[in-house]
Amino acid sequence: MTKLALVVGHTKSSPGATAAAPINDSEYRWNKELAEMMLAHAAGMAGVAAKVFQRDGVGVAGAYRQAWEWGAEGSIELHFNAAGPSATGSETLYVTPLSLPLAEAVQDATLTVLGLRDRGVKTSLAASGGRGEQNLMQMGGRPSILTEPFFGSNPADATVARQQKSALARAQLEAAVNVLVNIDAEDHWTVRASALNVRGGPGTDYEKLSWGPLSQGTAVELIGRHDEWAFIRAEAGEGFVHAAFLS
Ligand SMILES: [Zn+2]
Repeated sequence: MTKLALVVGHTKSSPGATAAAPINDSEYRWNKELAEMMLAHAAGMAGVAAKVFQRDGVGVAGAYRQAWEWGAEGSIELHFNAAGPSATGSETLYVTPLSLPLAEAVQDATLTVLGLRDRGVKTSLAASGGRGEQNLMQMGGRPSILTEPFFGSNPADATVARQQKSALARAQLEAAVNVLVNIDAEDHWTVRASALNVRGGPGTDYEKLSWGPLSQGTAVELIGRHDEWAFIRAEAGEGFVHAAFLS
C-alpha cells in the first residue's frame, strides 16, 4: 500500500492569500477542495491510500505528526502563490535531496496541466524565500514537498487553474504516487553487519533505539536517505541506520 499525505495549506481562521476571479477564494478553501478531488482520484487507484491533513487546531507540526503516525510515505502541502497581478507560473518547494524526485514529478505534472511558466523546483532558503522550510522538515526521511501551482493574484493564472482544477488534482496525485511506488519497489534491503544499531536520527549523536540492534540478514525497507544514513522500516519499528551496512 502506497500512502500519500495531502496537507492543506493554512487554516480556516488564517486562510492565506485570496485569489482573483474566477476563483475569488482563499488558499485554504481552494486547497481543501483540491485535496478532496485528489482523495477521490486516489480511491480509484489500487494499492494507493491518500489522506487529508489540516493544520487547524494542531498547527503545521501537528498536521505532519498525524501524517507521520498514519504512516505516510510522502506528503504534498497544497498552496497557491500570490504577488502582483502579472506574476505568473508554477513552482514546487522541497528541502532534502530525497524529496527532489517527488518535487520534479509533481512540478512536471503541474506544468503539463496548467501550461504556465516553469519557475522550477526550489530548495534553499534563499531560493524559496523561506517558505515551507519548517513544514518540509517535519517528515524526516520521507519525501515532502510544497506545491504552488499558480499565482492566485494573477487573473489569467486563476482562470487556467479554475478550468483545470480536476485535471490538476489527478495529475499531481498520479505523479506523486508513481514516485512513491517506485521508491517502495526498489527499496528492500538486508542488514549485512552482525549487529546494526538503529538510531532516532541521522547521526551517531542520536540515541540508539531500544528495539535495536538489528541482526545480520534482517529485512528492512528503505524509506528515505539522509547523506550516509538510511531511514528504514523493520518489523519492529522505524529508525535510522548507517547505509553502508545494508545491501
Ligand atoms: Zn500559502
